[in-house]
Amino acid sequence: MSPADPFDLPHDALFGVHNLPYGVFSTAGDPRRRLGVRYGEHVLDAGAAARATGAPADLAELLAAPSLNPLLAAGRPAWTRVRAEVTAWLTEQRHRAAVAPCLVPLPDTVPYLPFEVADYADFYASEHHASNVGRIFRPGADALPPNWKYMPIGYHGRAGTVVVSGTDVVRPCGQRREPGEQVPSYGPSLRLDIEAEVGFVVGAPSAQGERVALADADDHVFGLCLLNDWSARDIQAWEYVPLGPMLGKSFATSVSAWVTPLDALRHARTLPPPRDPRPPAYLDDGAARPSALDIAIEVRLNGHLVARPPFATMYWTYPQMVAHLTVNGASLRTGDLFGSGTVSGPERDTRGALIELTWNGEEPLRLPDGSQRSFLHDGDEVVLSATAPGPAGTRLALAEVRTRVLPPHP
Ligand code: CA
Repeated sequence: MSPADPFDLPHDALFGVHNLPYGVFSTAGDPRRRLGVRYGEHVLDAGAAARATGAPADLAELLAAPSLNPLLAAGRPAWTRVRAEVTAWLTEQRHRAAVAPCLVPLPDTVPYLPFEVADYADFYASEHHASNVGRIFRPGADALPPNWKYMPIGYHGRAGTVVVSGTDVVRPCGQRREPGEQVPSYGPSLRLDIEAEVGFVVGAPSAQGERVALADADDHVFGLCLLNDWSARDIQAWEYVPLGPMLGKSFATSVSAWVTPLDALRHARTLPPPRDPRPPAYLDDGAARPSALDIAIEVRLNGHLVARPPFATMYWTYPQMVAHLTVNGASLRTGDLFGSGTVSGPERDTRGALIELTWNGEEPLRLPDGSQRSFLHDGDEVVLSATAPGPAGTRLALAEVRTRVLPPHP
């Protein structure tokens, strides 16, 4: 095999055969949107590969769609069959001649939002993040609100402004009230921030009126991505009492171009932290099931590593988020996206938002170019990336979320 053989990946490839995330792409020569599977530095045109290999008709139809939604809706048995089929295409010699023409170099592809986002909700599941924000915004009061250890608290966000990695974000304008002022002013946000999160993508829906139990969450959750919950802290601080985030969050939420199936993260499963007090029965997993995920996130600002948030430290897990989302009878829909909340660990350099990293601007970050950041400047580029344990000591990557901040519209 030549070094350029796309099938010949090194053992430690971050997008190897144990990863296989799904996305939607086009190419300059073929502008149709189509499903792809990322493999190394290539994208497998999944629909074309299904035709070329003579895959079963029902699977070929799911992979011929221009978005992930039909596959998402098909449910876990179909997810398992498709993953096995794709794995065989990429690893079995008998498929090579048919599959090789379906591998497109990654730089030749244009990514799109991989699925049509139905509803978007965002949680607040890191005890370290919630405690830090509580100390910043409510000094002298309890760091955690009284409900925090009884449920994964969250809010419903704006699905229509979820954008794929690579999409620029324009600095939002809005109302803010500066310290010491009586009335608000209007203008571009002066405290534009990131929130490094993991986003979960719902596949199979649930019926309205029915609850999804903790043990059934994996029948509904297809996979995950990285998520940057853009936050205008000044707009947020003025508007959020008493109904929660609104325009300070709704202008943009960025997600990876590739959705990693839960099946790829079997080796990343780990025990959640002990919960004290124990939550209500519908949320009580006894901390005995490996429902937490050991995902190591990195946050880069203009190329410089500024934080390493550890997802394994999250207090609430995605099965608990699913159980909570549905406990009142609200349904899950195919394409629902829910964010974990900012991922922050106990140390300063593990905090997943600038408001915590700079303690609301009091302790600015110093970048190697000599500049300082309390919050983001126009032109700044933020990249979230992450890896997780794979089989046999390997690691696999979640696809990055890369975004540049553009100046506000006049
Ligand atoms: Ca958030």
